[in-house]
Amino acid sequence: MLPRLKSLNVLASGDELLVSLDPKVRVRLADPDGTVLTLLRLLRDGTRSPDELATDVGIDDVRPVLDQLDGLGWLEDASRPSSFDAHDTERYASNLAFFDAFTTLSHGRDELQERLRSAHVLVLGAGGLGSAVLMNLAGLGVGALTVVDQDLVELRNFARQFTYTEAEIGQPKADRVADWLRAFDTSLRVESHRRRVESTDDVAALIVATRPDLVVSAIDEPDEVDRWVNQACVTAGVPFVRGGLAYTQGLYWSVDPGRSACRECLERHRDRLADGIDREIVDRPRVLRQDRVNRAIGPVAGVLGGLVAMEALRFLTRLSEPIAAGRYQLLDFAGSCETRTDAWPADPECPVCAAARAQVAA
Ligand SMILES: [Zn+2]
Repeated sequence: MLPRLKSLNVLASGDELLVSLDPKVRVRLADPDGTVLTLLRLLRDGTRSPDELATDVGIDDVRPVLDQLDGLGWLEDASRPSSFDAHDTERYASNLAFFDAFTTLSHGRDELQERLRSAHVLVLGAGGLGSAVLMNLAGLGVGALTVVDQDLVELRNFARQFTYTEAEIGQPKADRVADWLRAFDTSLRVESHRRRVESTDDVAALIVATRPDLVVSAIDEPDEVDRWVNQACVTAGVPFVRGGLAYTQGLYWSVDPGRSACRECLERHRDRLADGIDREIVDRPRVLRQDRVNRAIGPVAGVLGGLVAMEALRFLTRLSEPIAAGRYQLLDFAGSCETRTDAWPADPECPVCAAARAQVAA
């Protein structure tokens, strides 16, 4: 092992060092005789073993100190062989740099990129949100993508859907977005299905046929679609992330089967939403219904697509826990873009969750 110090800032302050990797976190280290600073300097190039470091610093055993620094997330192992060739290391340079924040001496950044390369995501819908999510997943290096969409490219899509061209108007979105993805990254495995999702069985059949690690649902019609996706995904033990826009409020939520509450838990007890986003409309009959209006503009689809892809990244790599599992994340695009969150509890009697919980327990 060759411990190497990550790129962090060290300031001297009397007998102390003020160290900061993440600007939000400052750590004070006592260093009256300068030993710690010497060690940090020697750790910069990642060419010395723990024994060599101990000799060069002049202490018997450097390992307890290395354990502490590793616990702070400051070290990585420079001797770890890279699993990527020069092309992929260059292509995923920003991803690998971002993953730095989640790595330790025993878990390298390549591990997280490898999980993405071996992952398969099924994306339902290639409209504003779906195409934005697909672009982000391709940039993250998700190795296999399946796109399902029935619609044709229309002129009205161009305010928010940037994977299509004017020459493609009238052509199937699923096929054209698949072309875009293949051109963007020739190593991606991309499949497209021109079809509508009309039942739980439809979603279940797609899951059986494509065996995804994660589903992204970017369709909001008909009203029942969330229950269909939920039932099919939870039964198959496949997590899913859902994004959408309600008037000018962006929202996304996810379900981690058997671990978080599912959509059915919410439907059974809508009045239990903590912050009451639905409380007033529970159980009241709809007496006037107008056609759905899609108000998503490019920036809205882009921000939501990024946030949904970020949640997908959490599920696929587990670099941190999903933040929207059984929980609405809401963004007010008409106001200050502040984020609100509203969780719903799991229902112990939920029939959809029951089998998934048993699977997780086993
Ligand atoms: Zn449930």
